[in-house]
Amino acid sequence: MPIGSLTSGLQLKSAREIETMARGGAILAATHAHVKPFVRAGVTTGELDTIVEDFIRSHAGAEPAFKGLYGFPGSACISVNEEVVHGIPGPRALHDGDIVTIDIGVKFEGMFTDAAITHPVGEIDEVTKRLLEVTERSLAAGIEAAVPDNHVGDIGAAIQGVVETAGFAIVRELVGHGVGFALHEEIQIPNYGKPKRGKKLVPGLTIAIEPMVNVGTAKTRTLADKWTVVTLDGKRSAHFEHTIAITEDGPRILTPRQ
Ligand code: MG
Repeated sequence: MPIGSLTSGLQLKSAREIETMARGGAILAATHAHVKPFVRAGVTTGELDTIVEDFIRSHAGAEPAFKGLYGFPGSACISVNEEVVHGIPGPRALHDGDIVTIDIGVKFEGMFTDAAITHPVGEIDEVTKRLLEVTERSLAAGIEAAVPDNHVGDIGAAIQGVVETAGFAIVRELVGHGVGFALHEEIQIPNYGKPKRGKKLVPGLTIAIEPMVNVGTAKTRTLADKWTVVTLDGKRSAHFEHTIAITEDGPRILTPRQ
């Protein structure tokens, strides 16, 4: 097949565009590191959102990419306990034993990056500890599979393998995505799948890999606020995400933790 048909719809980035994403991704990673010490009992998700927004805007050329996107009111999506993704920051205060996912997008010099971390609040129970550890490990496995000549299904299969071996459930109703020229580009990156299935991965492709992992059922529902996605059974969910570039030398994490 001609290369054009193999890569159509993948919106490949030049080396220069990937460097711009890496600079934006470093600001994003610094934002995660900056907000982390504020994650403690008593803080509200609205306060965390303000900390995120102010820190991003303190960097020339950077802005919070989620703010106003599809009408989202916050700068970060902040999701507590049974909330899977897209929690709206507000008056909810965190308690010891909670977990909170902070999902941040940065637009920097016209290029987008996206990354999420689930934090423990104080001391968390053993099952929740394992949930966080497994979810982060599944992201690492997905990234490791993101190499040229592998397919989208290899990423999903790697993530699914880690999660299901640990006895947790992978959310199927939400997926990772292409990212770079826009926050959400056409290609979808499911967190489940079969090796060698789906689009072929090629250098210059930039994607957000983001496993969402539930303690109980994989099923979710959306609250009446039309944003917040929660687990159907009310049990906990964790979410880790990086923006990566596929390169000849393997996956390059553009939002490395600081
Ligand atoms: Mg994302």
